[in-house]
Amino acid sequence: MDAIIDVTPLYLNGMLKTLQLLGIAGVGAFIVGVFVAALRISPVPALRAFADAGFSGAALKEEVGGAGLPSSVFGACMCWFHAANVGTTGYALLTMAAANLLSQHGTPEQVARFVGPMAEGRFFGTMALSEPHAGSNLADITTRAEPQRDGTYRLFGRKMWISGGDHELSENIVHLVLARIPGSPAGTRGISLFVVPKFLVGEDGSLGEHNDVVLAGINHKMGWRGTVNTAPVFGDGSYTPGGEAGAVGSLVGQKNRGLPVMFAMMNEARIGVGLAANALGYTGYLKSLAYARDRLQGRPVGADASTPQVPLTEHPDVRRMLLAQKSYVEGALALILYCSRLVDDASSLEDEAQRSEAQALLGLLTPIAKSWPSQWCLTANDLAIQVLGGAGYTRDHDVEQHYRDNRLNAIHEGTHGIQGLDLLGRKVLGDGGAALGLLASRIQAAARRAAAASAEGTHYAQQLESAVQRLGEVTAKLATLGKPAAITADSTAYLEATGHIVIAWLWLEQWVVAAGNEGSFYDGKRAATAYFFSRELPKVGPMLDLLEQADSLLLTLDPACL
Ligand SMILES: Cc1cc2nc3c(=O)[nH]c(=O)nc-3n(C[C@H](O)[C@H](O)[C@H](O)COP(=O)(O)OP(=O)(O)OC[C@H]3O[C@@H](n4cnc5c(N)ncnc54)[C@H](O)[C@@H]3O)c2cc1C
Repeated sequence: MDAIIDVTPLYLNGMLKTLQLLGIAGVGAFIVGVFVAALRISPVPALRAFADAGFSGAALKEEVGGAGLPSSVFGACMCWFHAANVGTTGYALLTMAAANLLSQHGTPEQVARFVGPMAEGRFFGTMALSEPHAGSNLADITTRAEPQRDGTYRLFGRKMWISGGDHELSENIVHLVLARIPGSPAGTRGISLFVVPKFLVGEDGSLGEHNDVVLAGINHKMGWRGTVNTAPVFGDGSYTPGGEAGAVGSLVGQKNRGLPVMFAMMNEARIGVGLAANALGYTGYLKSLAYARDRLQGRPVGADASTPQVPLTEHPDVRRMLLAQKSYVEGALALILYCSRLVDDASSLEDEAQRSEAQALLGLLTPIAKSWPSQWCLTANDLAIQVLGGAGYTRDHDVEQHYRDNRLNAIHEGTHGIQGLDLLGRKVLGDGGAALGLLASRIQAAARRAAAASAEGTHYAQQLESAVQRLGEVTAKLATLGKPAAITADSTAYLEATGHIVIAWLWLEQWVVAAGNEGSFYDGKRAATAYFFSRELPKVGPMLDLLEQADSLLLTLDPACL
């Protein structure tokens, strides 16, 4: 925690400082400069620059061709790229996630064929889970994988919404596909995972025949316009590798264990979505702040009309919009970096008890890390548009694009509603509240540190401790409801209340670090903490009241009346 808090202010003082911390500021700024310059031409040189600088494999282990960068460091680097253009980094994100999965669960042959070229940025990856009739509930997928005599499989079926599903940006596309082997049990226990390349890859790494995978169409979505979104079809006979129809693939991991493997990777992908949402919110905040400092408009209330116009930052309501953005984006960044640190701790700490503690906390915080930035950094983008006035609504400025791009983060890697169900059903009640207790003890420790610092700290500490206590009481009450449907009917409110408490905690941690330090950077930390505690944390009370009442409105509602 301390290390993260040490690092956090550096990001928050402009992301360049992060790279200074890492000793690669010049290199980082140069690479991002090349990336941004390349984007003006097309995504190909941008992605090439990204790969040539070694970022495609930076987070992979060294033994599979990566650089073994810790998640916390790599996540910080990715903020820069997402802020430059998230529609381009989408390809890199998917490729790194797929390569990471294969490096951990693939056979040595699969690793040799696919992971190396992915780490070099020559092959790109996809995650092909969703189908037209099975999105939130993957238990209903029907794509079929027929075993072949040579140990491979032939896949047949339709997928939907697959990002990066076809393009000419890379030499090959490596699809990770969820499918059912005939005879497997129904539901999630009968789903297996396969690696299916667009072009078959020989033992020597050479590209062979076009596999039997084509597109039924492209989805024209509102944001991330640079990341093509596709509806692929596997095995419709458009191509006949080896003389017959069917997309050739090989099993990853064990038969019928595809979903747990995919979910293990999804946790990191969820943090990655939160990070992208954060970068978009953060860059919108910085752009609206620069605009507000520059733009002259009106005078303070009561000032004489003959006095000069003042910058937008002089108006209290514009300050509200800027401080709100700051409190959301810097709070969310602290959360993402904290979770990234937990990813590192869960795999690297020597003490087993500490490792499992990090794992439990990470599991609990992951739905929040995915959904809180997707919700509140989007609100930050909304405010950024408003700060620019009419100009914010035009394509002359980036902020409208950041809003459209960020709006997509509520759907990727599990919708907002699904994250609420995951948090309350699986992560909190699933382990009898153990992980929540762990979180509460960390929050209480921070509150004690704040209370020891000053009267202001005591005030924040009391407010936060009382919110945590209330959350514990409401959770215990929900557990007594017995039926899962009744417990989780308002789980979105639970997700949002818990998210706000977590962010308030991370603001308090920053406030403690800032205490006693002078200058506008630290004053900004204090102002944003004050904003979050006075304007945001109080929103938790009504949400917890609603949950405590176990209101049955949503559970018993007749859909006919909607
Ligand atoms: C731009 C974009 C990129 C994507 N990229 C990929 C990708 O690369 N790979 C991939 O496999 N998929 C991808 N997806 C698919 C995405 O994961 C799904 O859209 C998402 O899981 C929701 O599924 P659905 O669209 O079928 O909506 P549905 O499942 O029909 O859900 C519709 C709404 O109902 C809610 N809902 C559904 N079931 C429940 C429930 N049990 N309880 C509470 N609420 C519920 C959802 O929260 C949602 O708000 C992408 C989607 C988009 C839009």
